[in-house]
Amino acid sequence: MKIGCPKEIKPQEFRVGVTPNAAHEAVMHGHQVVIETGAGAGAGFDDAAYEAAGATILQTAEEIFATADMIVKVKEPQPVERKMLREGQLLFTYLHLAPDPEQTRDLLASGCTAIAYETVTDDRGGLPLLAPMSEVAGRLAPQVGAWTLQKANGGRGVLMGGVPGVGPAKVLVIGGGVVGTHAARIAAGMGADVTVLDRSLPRLRYLDDVFGGTFSTGYSSAGLLAEHLGEADMVIGAVLIPGAEAPKLVRRDQFAGMKPGAALVDVAIDQGGCFETSRATTHADPIYEVDGIMHYCVANMPGAVARTSTIALGNATMPFMLALADKGWRQACLDDPHLLDGLNVHAGQLTYYAVGKALGIDV
Ligand code: NAD
Repeated sequence: MKIGCPKEIKPQEFRVGVTPNAAHEAVMHGHQVVIETGAGAGAGFDDAAYEAAGATILQTAEEIFATADMIVKVKEPQPVERKMLREGQLLFTYLHLAPDPEQTRDLLASGCTAIAYETVTDDRGGLPLLAPMSEVAGRLAPQVGAWTLQKANGGRGVLMGGVPGVGPAKVLVIGGGVVGTHAARIAAGMGADVTVLDRSLPRLRYLDDVFGGTFSTGYSSAGLLAEHLGEADMVIGAVLIPGAEAPKLVRRDQFAGMKPGAALVDVAIDQGGCFETSRATTHADPIYEVDGIMHYCVANMPGAVARTSTIALGNATMPFMLALADKGWRQACLDDPHLLDGLNVHAGQLTYYAVGKALGIDV
């Protein structure tokens, strides 16, 4: 099969769909790989790295789309890319179709077969192609929160780990899933005094078994949350209710009881955010203040560490990409029901129930 990887064109997107290592694996499996020139530059991979891996560099996205049997990307195809997709072509990337009727219409019109990273599943009910980005955002959250806490940035001027004779920062993590667990580990590693609140007792048991002693856990009720808010130097919002907007767990009127200059990092901002005062920000202008409380609400946090994110995503997508290339999408999906869960569009037909329900299209 010929696998094609164009350069991402969505603003502020520096990741790339195929790493040189993934290209090398595909070549070892007997496939051809074509990469648009400069596609890996934002993630620190130059054309020479792809050529050394056995891939061929092409000059334009048009050539990639015209020649490849399968397009592997990161972000959903943009309008100009959607025009280049054709019948029978396989698209493997993040799609997020439910809130995007225009993209859905174009994909259906193209006749392509589209497998969405975000709906591929695993044996444990997880989302293996979303998890790496949650791991990145979770580990990044205390890092950006620590920066937000610095005085020059409007923060409280508190050092995460304290120093001998001065106590550490108190960090409250709301939601102990993938993001919350990674955030808590890193914050604890920086020396902070960390508490994680979650609504799932099985999850709290797991966290206590594995991380007891590293950070504390609590059952997430409004009362306990209010108690911890008053103490916190940093609050990391990491809740998710699948398929729903994030619940607003902290109200503006509660800021009066918080420490001035405390930092809120709302990782759940891509689902609307879990603080009443959250609004999405960008890497160019990431923080703002409300009633003396600093907010960091960047909706695409992994973009800040494009190289780590690209490699993490590539590690997760590579086995699926190889299965699709080795067997063709039909056999690969028949052999692996978790990959089949990723099938969203085929030959002008929507094939994913939740997207159809959201958009009012027959599946
Ligand atoms: P997850 O499903 O692994 O974890 C969510 C956790 O929230 C679960 O353990 C659940 O029990 C808990 N929860 C639900 N309601 C709660 C409540 N009221 N109080 C406390 N806990 C509650 O999800 P995840 O992968 O960790 O993702 C968390 C959020 O981060 C999602 O909204 C996701 O979209 C977002 N995210 C954002 C970025 C970004 O760049 N901003 C990147 C990755 C993920």
